Amino acid sequence: MDENQKTCHICYKPSRLFNYGVPCCNACKMFFRRVKTFRTPLRECENNEICYKNADEIFYYDCKSCRFQQCIRAGMIENQEKIRFFDIIPILHQLEIEKRNILENYEAPFKNISFEEVTDTEPIQFKPKSLDTRFNSYDYAFMTHTSTFDYLKKLDFVKMMTSSDSKAFLKSSYLNCAIFSTAMHCYSHKMGFITFPEGIDIFPTDIDIIPIHFPRLELGIKCRMIGKLSELRITQEEFLLLNIIFICNPDVPNMSETGLLLLNCHQKMYSSLLLKYCQMTYQHNAPSRFNDLLSICHVISKTRQDTSNVALIFQIYKPGIKWRDMFKGAIDFLLK
Ligand SMILES: [Zn+2]
Ligand SMILES: [Zn+2]
Repeated sequence: MDENQKTCHICYKPSRLFNYGVPCCNACKMFFRRVKTFRTPLRECENNEICYKNADEIFYYDCKSCRFQQCIRAGMIENQEKIRFFDIIPILHQLEIEKRNILENYEAPFKNISFEEVTDTEPIQFKPKSLDTRFNSYDYAFMTHTSTFDYLKKLDFVKMMTSSDSKAFLKSSYLNCAIFSTAMHCYSHKMGFITFPEGIDIFPTDIDIIPIHFPRLELGIKCRMIGKLSELRITQEEFLLLNIIFICNPDVPNMSETGLLLLNCHQKMYSSLLLKYCQMTYQHNAPSRFNDLLSICHVISKTRQDTSNVALIFQIYKPGIKWRDMFKGAIDFLLK
């Protein structure tokens, strides 16, 4: 064997070691481990993400983002994490319960916040809702947004992103996640259509333009997802895995290559877990069950499209509404 080939696949320095199934020196192994425990997000690459792409040049750079990208490319995340069904399901379940608890029993520490600020990496410190507080649909919409952002920020792989990647990711994925999770909650409580907690209508009742002039749009948003979930009789485990698979969708605008690779490799890991679950549960019907489950993403997209149509209708027919800043930003992003 050629001695020259024995180099670390991350930093290209000479090394005969293997770590996480990859030719990788100890320094790079330690670096990879540390990324998972960083309290502050990785700094963005200032060099078009080429720092570790040319073996002759890398010693000029000290770019954590590119070094981490090399680790992902080499397959270190897949080799290290070995996500197992019985470990991950309770974690995802717990996060889902926490999110729902925040939505029902807490309030945000601010009445107003911009879409930019709410998608910053800092966690939101919710406070228990006082007994005499009554939420209307605007308040619950606000809480649905903020509790979903909070949930997404708690995911392990999101903590490994740079702050601008995390922002791009949060903006692009929170709505689908909120749609799926709200529909699943209502479906598992045997409700025929989507509402906010306490049966509060998801459309503001002071704007009657949707039910009066666009009843099919209203029906689609409230019932289509629940219809699909009941048709498939989706289980809680399937929902948890499918939700995280959709969340890891790497189709995020303005994201770095490192961020996209991170999403991509997590999506692959969760997908193979769902496939294994289907094989255990449905035996030879596993492939068709797996495809049926994935087809839910089209129904989520349709509901998202309908939601942006509602936003558009509000803008055209009710231009005077004083939306809170976060909704203004969210609507602009949706209609972009
Ligand atoms: Zn190395
Ligand atoms: Zn770089």
